[in-house]
Amino acid sequence: MDRFADLRLKMVETQIESRGVKDARLLEALRRVPRHLFVPENRRAEAYEDEPLAIGEGQTISQPYIVAFMTEALKLRGRERILEIGTGSGYQTAVLAELAAEVFSVEVIGELSRRAREELAGLGYGNIRFQTGDGSRGWAENAPYDGIIVTAAAEDIPAALPPQLKDGGRLILPVGIGAQVLVLIVRKGKKFHRTELLSVRFVPLVTVA
Ligand code: SAH
Repeated sequence: MDRFADLRLKMVETQIESRGVKDARLLEALRRVPRHLFVPENRRAEAYEDEPLAIGEGQTISQPYIVAFMTEALKLRGRERILEIGTGSGYQTAVLAELAAEVFSVEVIGELSRRAREELAGLGYGNIRFQTGDGSRGWAENAPYDGIIVTAAAEDIPAALPPQLKDGGRLILPVGIGAQVLVLIVRKGKKFHRTELLSVRFVPLVTVA
């Protein structure tokens, strides 16, 4: 067992199961994915703590519980095609790649995308495709998606995203400036049902002109 495996089991038990996350496949994935490899080397000791961490370029890796909560909201069974906006460290990407068939991940900062690609390739994930650019437009070429997850907050839901969902598809994202809330959109035919789930704090979604 690597020396972080014990910390990882504790993280899942005390931060994630204890707060009500139940999806067994997700809990297994969280016990498996080496989160410490997605934080800067000098922060590895803190990788399994109950908080977000700085990853450089002014960005953060999300708190473990938030990764778990957002992923559970997508209700993944293994056959899905998922769009992720905000690759960041690549940790959330790895969790998605464990649970879905294909992951398409967009990151606006080239250096972060490059580092995440390298880490994820090193871990052997072969079901992820990356793009550097403004994810608020989605990634239309590979649409429609069973799930879309955005890990940076916008004032409003980017208009390009809901139409890239399949019928029955789920979109989860933080919405708001300052006070933010996680919003879940579920597509039912031409209708988009909206639910507000949890107060959160994310870095802002950058829009590139
Ligand atoms: N899921 C990541 C979260 C990183 S923070 C993790 O846990 O590591 C949010 C990320 O969204 C940052 O890397 C930021 O650069 C990126 N981002 C911000 N605006 C974006 C946009 N318009 N398109 C794509 N990525 C964006």
